[in-house]
Amino acid sequence: MTDTAEIAIIGSGPAGLMAAEAAASAGARVVIYDRMPSPARKFLLAGRGGLNLTHNEPQPAFLTRYGEAQLAPFIAAFPPDALRAWAADLGQECFVGTSGRVFPKSFKASPLLRAWLRKLGELGVELRLRHEFQGWDARGRLRFSTPEGERLVEARACVLALGGASWPRLGSDGGWVDLLAVQGLSVAPLRPSNCGFEIAWSPVLKSFGGFPLGPVTLTGGGHSLRGECVITEHGIEGGAIYAISAGLRDAIARDGGADLTIDLRPDVSHETLAARLARPRGGQSMANVLRKSGGLPPVAAALVRELGPLPADPAELAARIKALTLRLTGVRPIARAISTAGGLRFEDVTDELMVRRRPGLFVAGEMLDWEAPTGGYLLQACFATGRAAGAAAARFTP
Ligand SMILES: Cc1cc2nc3c(=O)[nH]c(=O)nc-3n(C[C@H](O)[C@H](O)[C@H](O)COP(=O)(O)OP(=O)(O)OC[C@H]3O[C@@H](n4cnc5c(N)ncnc54)[C@H](O)[C@@H]3O)c2cc1C
Repeated sequence: MTDTAEIAIIGSGPAGLMAAEAAASAGARVVIYDRMPSPARKFLLAGRGGLNLTHNEPQPAFLTRYGEAQLAPFIAAFPPDALRAWAADLGQECFVGTSGRVFPKSFKASPLLRAWLRKLGELGVELRLRHEFQGWDARGRLRFSTPEGERLVEARACVLALGGASWPRLGSDGGWVDLLAVQGLSVAPLRPSNCGFEIAWSPVLKSFGGFPLGPVTLTGGGHSLRGECVITEHGIEGGAIYAISAGLRDAIARDGGADLTIDLRPDVSHETLAARLARPRGGQSMANVLRKSGGLPPVAAALVRELGPLPADPAELAARIKALTLRLTGVRPIARAISTAGGLRFEDVTDELMVRRRPGLFVAGEMLDWEAPTGGYLLQACFATGRAAGAAAARFTP
């Protein structure tokens, strides 16, 4: 069965929906295709712990979050303020939370998504679900497998917004890498970003899986940062770990492992801590000394013990608490990561996000080769590139 769409958008995540809005606002007839039975599943999941849409920091600092990736023109064309105004237009006023993160007042993704889909419907955008993109046929038509069999789509231009490879059960599994390879397009390898790490824990530490740790100061991968993390059965993860995860991941790829140093009592100096630990113990057990004089919760005390017998010297014990070095042995699988590094390289797309070797094919969102920490930077880049790709696709003439 053959279908036509002036502009085909494949992927109904934030990048694809924004591309659809931009193209339809420019007057194009737009059809969105997605393999899942409902749209934007990862976006909805992102909203579960509070939808962090963007960040409030000034643009020069904001742009440094994307490293070398060439996202500046797209973010400049659709900056955080424009994103906030767009959300307000959909009835979702935003507020600036702790550390500059921007959230909709409802805190959730679902009201925003509902209003957005309504707006897209009013713009005439059609949504075809359970359509899995399979590549192109010999005539350049888009191939989809659907519950009713294969469907071919002729489109004047196409935007791919197929996401990364994290949380594959939500629809994005990175399978597009092979589809593009068949077309002679290579991508920077997909890697976990904002991810957890593996540590060869003892059975005792494994039993602390799920216990939060913090506030602590973490040093590793060339960065030092204060925040919170979580001990897991396999190792360690959580916000502060994600923030330094790119450097740790690259160090593991390079050296086969990486050191992570944790200051378990960042607010207390080594001298003060050593003095407290040197107080007469009376009949107290070491567990009580670590808890009362060291100020360590049980999970932190277990970490201190994980490195071997406790030093008898209070200064040495304080030194271990202030600089506990763990060996990270691996990176947790990409399926468990918050986001994906790697993807289609910027040098392979034009400044309108069109694939140089395939005129009429545009790319947006996490499929592109960039990464950023959590804090709203991920969604901001998806919205901004989606908007640019959709508008450019609507302008494209073969
Ligand atoms: C737990 C979690 C929390 C997060 N919280 C935040 C947050 O608070 N703030 C933030 O900025 N970012 C957050 N993120 C990251 C953010 O959700 C992603 O960066 C964003 O969703 C990526 O958008 P995208 O449109 O590029 O891809 P996706 O949202 O992954 O959408 C891609 C779409 O393409 C479809 N698709 C894939 N392959 C095919 C195919 N072959 N055929 C048809 N359809 C296909 C998928 O089904 C999917 O619907 C979070 C991520 C996770 C996992």
